[in-house]
Amino acid sequence: MISPIVDDTLLNKLRALINGAQHIAITCHKSPDGDALGSTLALCHVLRRLGKDAVVVTPDMAPRALDFVPGVRDIVVFTKHELRARHVLNDAQLIFCLDFNSLHRIDRLGEIIEPLKTKRVLIDHHLDPENIFDLTISHPEASSTCELVFRVLMQMGLLRYVDRHAASCLYVGLLTDTGGFAYSCDTPEFYEIIASIMRRRIDRIGLYNKAMNTFSADSLRLQGYAISEKMQLFPDKGAAMIVLDKSELERFNYNRGDTETLVNKPLAIPGIYWSVFMREDADKIKISCRSQGDFSVSEICARYFNGGGHENAAGGDFNGTLDQAIAVFYQVLADLFPDQPSINEQPKQES
Ligand code: 5GP
Ligand code: MN
Repeated sequence: MISPIVDDTLLNKLRALINGAQHIAITCHKSPDGDALGSTLALCHVLRRLGKDAVVVTPDMAPRALDFVPGVRDIVVFTKHELRARHVLNDAQLIFCLDFNSLHRIDRLGEIIEPLKTKRVLIDHHLDPENIFDLTISHPEASSTCELVFRVLMQMGLLRYVDRHAASCLYVGLLTDTGGFAYSCDTPEFYEIIASIMRRRIDRIGLYNKAMNTFSADSLRLQGYAISEKMQLFPDKGAAMIVLDKSELERFNYNRGDTETLVNKPLAIPGIYWSVFMREDADKIKISCRSQGDFSVSEICARYFNGGGHENAAGGDFNGTLDQAIAVFYQVLADLFPDQPSINEQPKQES
């Protein structure tokens, strides 16, 4: 039995909002991942089956690796089709905000949405949502926004509109936001939700292969290089750091998404329980952090790297040089482990 964790009064209000709207926009955070795309597209499929004009608008392009998610080609991408994106948002009678907790996570879409009088509904599992939504369905204990979309649809009696396409979208978010059912999925109910999704005859193995185990040759080589040549370990602090600069990314023809799961890799090493990855993007340093157990990387990202996220998976955008970001990492080590000088294991250099 899947328990009704979402507040019924919120769902009654949501029902009224959906009934009163024909044009509905659904948006998610920038650099959309499997959960952001899966949750927005699943909800979009269901709303369309209810006869609504629903459109997904994303701040920027999804990585090519997620091209297989059903409906991805219908998305209006702000950085590609700005006018159309503006039109959809201005025209909407209801706006869903999925998988983010603050407007700055949706870049310039935030500036468009903020002044609109249109009702905004948040469905999200990040900590501390901003108080800017007309309806806030926030459950940080949920594995993923896809889990919450499933629960909302279930409690509203709309599961019969979840067809194979919508179920596949939900599966992608449930799978990717738990690292392939590795973390944040410790409840029997999580697998009851999976069972319900599987009954919709999704191609489970195909989705797994595409979502979790498909990389270009360049991406695989880049990850191999990063682990072999760039991974630094700090065994006495349980930490690992990988840094890739612009020239290294260019050398491996970097495409968005190519380093998506790299930050998890050092956690395979016994004794390493938190991992930091820094990537020198065109306009900022992208920080990704992962941890195991009760070591919170969201606090580290919020305090030091202008970001946030979940206890075991967080990130941020650092405005500065790579060297400055690395210096901040050493500061984190010094603050967390004030009594221990830094002993790190550098990758072995060729002699
Ligand atoms: P990733 O490392 O995969 O980019 O992000 C992991 C998680 O960290 C995301 O699901 C999101 O919750 C959070 N996150 C990543 N980047 C940012 C950021 O720039 N700001 C905030 N607030 N959260 C982030
Ligand atoms: Mn998510």
